[in-house]
Amino acid sequence: MAPRGEQLVRVWANSRGRGACRSCGAVLTWATTIAGKRMPFDGDPVARQMSHDAATRDLVEHLSAGDVHWRTCPQADQWRR
Ligand SMILES: [Zn+2]
Repeated sequence: MAPRGEQLVRVWANSRGRGACRSCGAVLTWATTIAGKRMPFDGDPVARQMSHDAATRDLVEHLSAGDVHWRTCPQADQWRR
């Protein structure tokens, strides 16, 4: 379970793909949010919750916003351009 107040990002479970940060070289998992935005997560992020989309029944993972690499990258300034 997510700690109280933890911000979660809902992504399609089948959208996960491996990658690496072009700024710091960290291993990343890319995933597409249910809003259609590609986002990088640190390492192999563990889903805090799971659900199924009401319309498509596709599996949705609720990942911690704290695992988003935009927040944790030591070169984060480069992400904000
Ligand atoms: Zn990085």
